[in-house]
Amino acid sequence: MQWEVVIGLEIHAQLNTRSKIFSGAATAYGAAPNAQACAVDIALPGVLPVLNAAVVEKAVKFGLATGAAISRRSVFARKNYFYPDLPKGYQISQYELPVVVGGNMHIALDGREKTIRLTRAHLEEDAGKSLHEDFHGMSGIDLNRAGTPLLEIVSEPDLRSAAEAVAYAKAMHALVRYLDICDGNMQEGSFRCDANVSVRPLGAEKLGTRCEIKNLNSFRFLERAIDFEVQRQIGRLEDGGAIVQETRLYDSAKDETRAMRSKEEAHDYRYFPDPDLLPLELDEAFIEEIRASLPELPDDMKTRFMADYGLSAYDAGVLVAERETTGFFEAVAAGRDAKLAANWVISELFGRLNKAGVAIADSPVSAAALGGLVDLVSDGTISGRIAKDVFDEMFESGQDAAAIVEKKGLKQITDTGEIEAILDKIIADNPGQAAQYKDNPKVTGWFVGQVMKASGGKANPKVVNELIAKKLGG
Ligand code: ADP
Ligand code: MG
Repeated sequence: MQWEVVIGLEIHAQLNTRSKIFSGAATAYGAAPNAQACAVDIALPGVLPVLNAAVVEKAVKFGLATGAAISRRSVFARKNYFYPDLPKGYQISQYELPVVVGGNMHIALDGREKTIRLTRAHLEEDAGKSLHEDFHGMSGIDLNRAGTPLLEIVSEPDLRSAAEAVAYAKAMHALVRYLDICDGNMQEGSFRCDANVSVRPLGAEKLGTRCEIKNLNSFRFLERAIDFEVQRQIGRLEDGGAIVQETRLYDSAKDETRAMRSKEEAHDYRYFPDPDLLPLELDEAFIEEIRASLPELPDDMKTRFMADYGLSAYDAGVLVAERETTGFFEAVAAGRDAKLAANWVISELFGRLNKAGVAIADSPVSAAALGGLVDLVSDGTISGRIAKDVFDEMFESGQDAAAIVEKKGLKQITDTGEIEAILDKIIADNPGQAAQYKDNPKVTGWFVGQVMKASGGKANPKVVNELIAKKLGG
């Protein structure tokens, strides 16, 4: 039996406003427990929520960027449940009428493009945190996170593999950062995914029963959790069993998912409109003002990089994956050979940054400095081979390329006379190799290698090849 994997993601993006969604308390990460929880966040009786306008702007920005419909009227509801980190006894969340409806995301995977439909994006508040260490058999409650604004972005079940789910999550991660609506910090929980996973016989129309894996906070865990869950479901079905709809947790230490609770139904939450909050009504002018403020988005930037700089879809895709990278690349490419610039940024710079675990914002080689190196390669001052050594030294010392080339005497030798002298000596010392030139094509390479060695890698390869052909072939 062949199985088809079906996945829908719910992504919680923490909106990067300074204050909370319904109170004036700060949202900054890492404060002492409960230092940023005001009367509204700890649910003292008699207090009232006030909606933060910046939260609404950011949600609308997201909706416009994904081609969604912006609801002129949306409603905050109470989602009722009991948990120690939720002192009100309910979470305020948009339910029946969310602010953003529909929309699309484009993903690229192995050279294929695919559109993933969005169901909706709604505003809600985050809950607090239970702390289970340090309290000797009791739990502590930190309400700093209570009331932090979240945008929950729900996809249609359009994803067909763990790899597609990761590509989608990464595209979403890039988008919210381009839009400057979420800092995307996954370690701090600012961007987390719930994966709904089911399988069905290939060709079947009806969706299989799904399980929801909660709170995946890295792309690697998202991929592994889905892979494990798919295998578990297929194994169960092939053994004649059935899938129980439930909420599961991914245990990264054991690399498996475990049942957490049976799936709750919407009616378990007794949703009803929050009587303390007016419906959210948006007018055309407000929406149009936000539309006018939208930055260039990753998809558009990718298309532009391919058209204006002649980059491949792959290279353009790599560059637009992070907002910081695009500015860096454009600064290196300005007035230069853009493909050469892209090559240096992607292959050399990204490679070194990854290895060193350094973000591009902290790169020891600035865009201007890398541009300087590209110039030296383009105008033939140094060979591509030597340029890699120079780049290594730039990365280590922070010095600029010209200074390193000068100091170490790395300028490419293009002077024909100088190269000719080196070559003449090698020919004279190796008459046997020289004699083989006409019969053995490998001999050319051998002579090139010898000249390079004798010149410390500095001889211009084009000149070397020309001279070898002239001297031995002619
Ligand atoms: P809930 O809020 O109870 O989790 P939703 O209907 O809002 O339920 O669905 C949540 C997510 O589950 C959506 O991303 C949707 O695409 C996905 N989903 C729904 N049914 C399936 C299924 N059979 N297999 C995989 N994903 C599914
Ligand atoms: Mg859900």
